[in-house]
Amino acid sequence: MKYRGRFAPSPTGPLHAGSLVAALASWLDARAHGGQWLVRIEDVDTPRCVPGADHFILQQLAACSLQPDAPPVWQSQRSALYQQALDQLVSAGLAYPCACSRKDIEHALAARGDGKPRHGELVYPGTCRPERGGLHGKPGRAWRLHTDTAIFKPNWPLTPVNTAQAAPESGANPSSALHWTDRRLGPQCQEVAQAVGDFVLKRADGLWAYQLAVVVDDAAQGISHVVRGEDLADNTARQIGLQRALGLPTPHYLHTPLVLGANGEKLSKQNGAQALDTGTPEATLRALHQAAHLLGLPEAPPASSQGDCLALWTRAWRSGSGRGAAAL
Ligand code: GLU
Repeated sequence: MKYRGRFAPSPTGPLHAGSLVAALASWLDARAHGGQWLVRIEDVDTPRCVPGADHFILQQLAACSLQPDAPPVWQSQRSALYQQALDQLVSAGLAYPCACSRKDIEHALAARGDGKPRHGELVYPGTCRPERGGLHGKPGRAWRLHTDTAIFKPNWPLTPVNTAQAAPESGANPSSALHWTDRRLGPQCQEVAQAVGDFVLKRADGLWAYQLAVVVDDAAQGISHVVRGEDLADNTARQIGLQRALGLPTPHYLHTPLVLGANGEKLSKQNGAQALDTGTPEATLRALHQAAHLLGLPEAPPASSQGDCLALWTRAWRSGSGRGAAAL
């Protein structure tokens, strides 16, 4: 198998200690497999992007000697690919336009006594589904994927799955959920239609949604292995469903441990994550040591150079001593 991995930062600010863990793990996994490693700037959510952050991130990666094997790509330049994918889904009857505002969704959910957001997201009640009469004469705002279809069920397309061991998220019914296996977290399953609902592919403001862009690009770039932070694991079932809907292959997934902020939540700019200090070789090496430590990699002997450390950790990752390397 041809291994190709990637690191896909959103340029919403500089890299911090948490994002370096995902970057280092994906780079080590690619190196340990003798594969290629790519960088993709995920700048589709333009209002959240910080001007210049993309180039700063690339400099930070270069300072850490995490050099991509091909020139980076920017999602903002790839709209034509996302449009093609949406057209394909619409022609297949899997995507539909939606006229609902957030208020409409809140009202519809409240009317059935069911309005609790999940990770800040409301579970779409399916108001504009074609079988419920579609847009009801209102103008379409966003595009959604129909999740109540066979592609989100186990055994699609009749491949054997291990339902016995899957760790369902609370309330999920393993016999009607989508199953996948994470290389670190083990068997997972999610009932996407219940847990998330018909999710957005193109937003009401005209921007492409992360789920569609990431699936299209992983396939277009021939990504065989996705290594990224555990906070993104929850998106995986949606992404596998979209891959199936588009007839694309599913990569292997490995979700890395998170660095926690002072409040015990995932480190982010909101809870005080400092930009990674790559201003001097010493500071850069310190940051790499911290990331390697979180990944369960061995301490390098004192005075090891950055190159020596990366070589040591690549060997360790290959032999399975790093977290998540077990399935190599
Ligand atoms: N762009 C996403 C982020 O920075 C990562 C997407 C992915 O790795 O799938 O959180």
